[in-house]
Amino acid sequence: MIDALEIQVTRTAKSKLQDLNLEGIPFGKYFTDHMLVAEYADGEWKTVEIKPYQPLELDPSTSVLHYGQAIFEGIKAYKGDDGAPFIFRPYDNFKRFNKSAARMNMPEVPEEIFIEGMRQLIELEADWIPAIKEHSMYIRPFMISTDPMLGVRPAETYKFIIILSPGGPYYAQPMKIAVEEKFTRAAPGGVGFSKNAGNYGGSMIAATEAKKQGYDQVLWTDAFEHKWLQEVGMMNVFFVIDGVAVTPSLEEGTILEGVTRATVVTLLKEAGHKVEERRISIDELIEAHKAGKVSEIFGTGTAAVIAPIRELKYKDYVMSFDVDAMKVAPEVKATLTAIREGKQEDKHNWLFKI
Ligand code: PMP
Repeated sequence: MIDALEIQVTRTAKSKLQDLNLEGIPFGKYFTDHMLVAEYADGEWKTVEIKPYQPLELDPSTSVLHYGQAIFEGIKAYKGDDGAPFIFRPYDNFKRFNKSAARMNMPEVPEEIFIEGMRQLIELEADWIPAIKEHSMYIRPFMISTDPMLGVRPAETYKFIIILSPGGPYYAQPMKIAVEEKFTRAAPGGVGFSKNAGNYGGSMIAATEAKKQGYDQVLWTDAFEHKWLQEVGMMNVFFVIDGVAVTPSLEEGTILEGVTRATVVTLLKEAGHKVEERRISIDELIEAHKAGKVSEIFGTGTAAVIAPIRELKYKDYVMSFDVDAMKVAPEVKATLTAIREGKQEDKHNWLFKI
């Protein structure tokens, strides 16, 4: 096991920070001065270093470019009112990352590298976390296979990397969503529960086609009947039916186990709402809508946190929602924001202090 103290740090000669205005900075476009890189070979993690942010040099035969052993995570760090940085629920992402690694036949990344490495990197780059309301620092840990060799087999060498990108507020515009009936994101036994790069490459065409019809994203359905509801774009989904918050269950392994989803489930229950994690079909949803029982539909994810849906279309049937009349989504968002901003007790220890 690598001791945290073994992380080699090489500092940049000149920070890029003074050239940037962090207020309203667009998502994922600017990166901090340093990155963390860990190398895996011969069955073990060999080196971990924090060094100036720089391009990777890869042989054209590098296995990830051909066979896609690539996984990632998305996490956010914030600054509290006191200026102290913290990360939101990094252990949950750490666990999910290693589930993705196992499914993609990649080595697990130990806590000493993932969590402690991330902590040290954020500590070094703390000045980059905007101390501005609704701003954050997006953390992107990822792992790729690096064997320079075209044989199709699990690679023997890997790189685990963390990069950081400061970001302004993400205005979650109420979304128009089409229920997807042609393309499939995931099937039982597949890789839907993992956060691997191919899932995203394979799903872009659906959103592109939906956009041509005037929709922002799709609501994914199951692979066989295109009727069991899964996730909305790159977010988990909640339906408020007869006052009960229903979200698709995870057992089949076709849905990404969202950290925001888990947070929302906990907060809704604590606020006295009934929550059901279960299978839900488009037919059930339409029937409930016809009976006037569907009051809200919203997506949850690290980027937007909570994104209300103003229209959902299935074949010729269109459900419209008055986003301003929604109660559950804004209430849970307010609670989560209050915890994050230190105005409400963080009783689950979701805020990981640097
Ligand atoms: N589903 C998919 C497919 C996603 O990419 C994401 C974003 N990570 C989510 C759901 C939401 O997960 P989280 O709340 O952990 O960001």
